[in-house]
Amino acid sequence: PWPGHGSKHLPYEKLQALLLDTPSAEKASEWSKYYTSGAHLAGQNLSQAEWTRDRWEEWGVKSDIVAYDTYLNYPLDRRLALLKKKTDSTSQKPDSWEVAFEATLTEDVLEEDPTTQLENSIPTFHGYSASGNVTGSFVYVNYGTFWDFEDLVRANVSLEGKIAIARYGGIFRGLKLKRAEELGMIGCILYSDPGDDGEMTEEKGHKTYPKGPARNPSSVQRGSVEYLSMGPGDPTTPGYPSKPGVPREPTDGILPRIPSLPISYAEALPILKALNGYGPKAKNINEYWNRNAGLGYKGVEYNIGPSPDDLVLNLVNHQNYTTTPLWDVIGIINGTIPDEVVVVGNHRDAWIVGGAGDPNSGSAVINEVIRSFGQALEQGWKPLRTIVFASWDGEEYGLIGSTEWVEEYLPWISAANVAYVNVDVGVRSPTFSASAAPLLHNLLYEVTALVPSPNQTVKGQTVRDLWDGRISTMGSGSDFTAFQDYAGVPSLDMGFGGPDSEAPVYHYHSNYDSYWWQSVYGDPGFVYHRAMAQVLGLTVAKIADTPLLALNATAYAVALDEYVEKVESKLAGLEAKPSSEAEIFEFRARSAGVEVQGDRGAFERSLNRLHESIGEMTSAAVKLDAKAAKLATQANEHVPWWHWVKKLKLFHQIRFTNTKYKNIERAFLYPGGLDGRSWFKHVVFAPGIWTGYAGAVFPGLVESIDNKDFTNAIKWVEIIDSCIKTATKTMQ
Ligand code: GLU
Ligand code: CA
Ligand code: ZN
Ligand code: ZN
Repeated sequence: PWPGHGSKHLPYEKLQALLLDTPSAEKASEWSKYYTSGAHLAGQNLSQAEWTRDRWEEWGVKSDIVAYDTYLNYPLDRRLALLKKKTDSTSQKPDSWEVAFEATLTEDVLEEDPTTQLENSIPTFHGYSASGNVTGSFVYVNYGTFWDFEDLVRANVSLEGKIAIARYGGIFRGLKLKRAEELGMIGCILYSDPGDDGEMTEEKGHKTYPKGPARNPSSVQRGSVEYLSMGPGDPTTPGYPSKPGVPREPTDGILPRIPSLPISYAEALPILKALNGYGPKAKNINEYWNRNAGLGYKGVEYNIGPSPDDLVLNLVNHQNYTTTPLWDVIGIINGTIPDEVVVVGNHRDAWIVGGAGDPNSGSAVINEVIRSFGQALEQGWKPLRTIVFASWDGEEYGLIGSTEWVEEYLPWISAANVAYVNVDVGVRSPTFSASAAPLLHNLLYEVTALVPSPNQTVKGQTVRDLWDGRISTMGSGSDFTAFQDYAGVPSLDMGFGGPDSEAPVYHYHSNYDSYWWQSVYGDPGFVYHRAMAQVLGLTVAKIADTPLLALNATAYAVALDEYVEKVESKLAGLEAKPSSEAEIFEFRARSAGVEVQGDRGAFERSLNRLHESIGEMTSAAVKLDAKAAKLATQANEHVPWWHWVKKLKLFHQIRFTNTKYKNIERAFLYPGGLDGRSWFKHVVFAPGIWTGYAGAVFPGLVESIDNKDFTNAIKWVEIIDSCIKTATKTMQ
């Protein structure tokens, strides 16, 4: 139904059938095995980049490697030891220190899991952690959220000069260090508490990996501890691509200054137990502190400390910092329409030799999708829109490969990129989950309803049927961030990776995120890999190959109104205690005793303006969606060739309508960026300033409220209002 499309165009229904039939579980397993058989840390995976490019080429997709010179760290020496002072009162000798516990900082080699036996396993360390050698008493800081630290300050627990021990969870790990550093702490260790693993724990009677689904006690979560303050990407090139020879900026305030190490719960045990009897107990701080504290059965009383002066930790972390190339693989299928492009990406780099969940379940899936599109190409198919496939490098350190690429191609992306689709962990549990820009919500519901679910309690159930349908707002934590928050491209991120307390424990960023784990516990038979490839293929096809862009404007307007209501309820509860689990992970400046600035009443009245302009946007959106639906029907009707004038007119109307859709998300970019983190340009979506992963809506506005700065809040109402008006004009 499209001029210039030619007779060879595969009818859309046939393309859909091909994308459902082609992905294979066996092939996905083969790709998973390949990627997880050799170390592929950022900047150290050229052979896997070349292999990926060669496979994509083989399947008929033109592909190239794009390199960036980026600032990265690789581990040298590390040490963590618990030291006890020995005072010999009978002799004149000076005090000496005895090693009470020396951490191995390694994960166990397992007979069952071949990945763990490889010689080239990667040490347990933190990306972008500071080198240092510190010794001091230590304090248990719970999850290390802003709120947790506030509780400690209020309880008069001394933090300055101490080392923090925090458990993973709740927020992005770098932000735990950031707050510890701000409060004068000198080092930080992070461990994985089994209490955060849901039902599948040893305490609840399950065997530990590899014998069972519970967490292996020696497992360690590696990961980046960047501070996210300036946004993602190479910390030395904020806002421009890390091409060889470009000027580099200092990393002060962007990267940690205090050293840190990740450890297992087996090695956290002696440290936590050493705190027994010192300082208040976690459960006496408030009800949130005792939540999921899972090592009670091992004798940990969760005292906060600090440890006495004669019981200290020695934390040594030496990192080799270097500027070195990393490699994105970019594949392209040219479409008929030159200025409409969909980008589909997954990262390739992993913290470990394995990475069968993160990221290579996604890599296996995207390969199956490319192989499927390759089959369509072989049948002479050409999409309406250009499809760009990306295998990103350096995601783990800070979304580097994707961010540098977006920074490099920003003008083209702004002009042509209609949507970005991300798959990171494609499969790690049977639970489908997604986050997406509202423009893409309907599309997700439609495509998941076309894919049979691998587990069916009732015959014929689809992925949609078994999914609760919840779509989170876009925060950060994967490669969609630069597209959504910097370039204003409506993005989505999905995978079978939803929280599922009954699923086997996923060993995130650990050696046990291995091929063996995936094939025995995660996705036996790789059937979820196949389903994920089907969902992804259909998603891309729908964006790339239906005459009308598969975006829904009304959903955006409706969502915006809900977000304003959220702001209003936040305002109403500004003095209240946190009432939900999500709230305890949020920054609440009211607890920091901040003084009110500006006129709160005037600000509250100004919110009505937003409701009004969203009302206008809603009418425009409803009209636009109705018009698009009508054009979509007409595009599918057969028009005889001699009605070429009619055809041409339809063609122009469709082009015109699609351009409107393409520009809606861009209207929400504010060139000045968010307060204090100007790289983030989107006024509706950003990572929460103290959550990192979880998204904040209207971040500028919400942060101003948190700071009780109503003058600044009014400024943000004005900015948002003008964005909404621009979006409305775009649609009219
Ligand atoms: N996905 C990685 C992580 O969660 C990188 C996140 C980031 O640096 O933004 O550790
Ligand atoms: Ca950059
Ligand atoms: Zn990942
Ligand atoms: Zn990761």
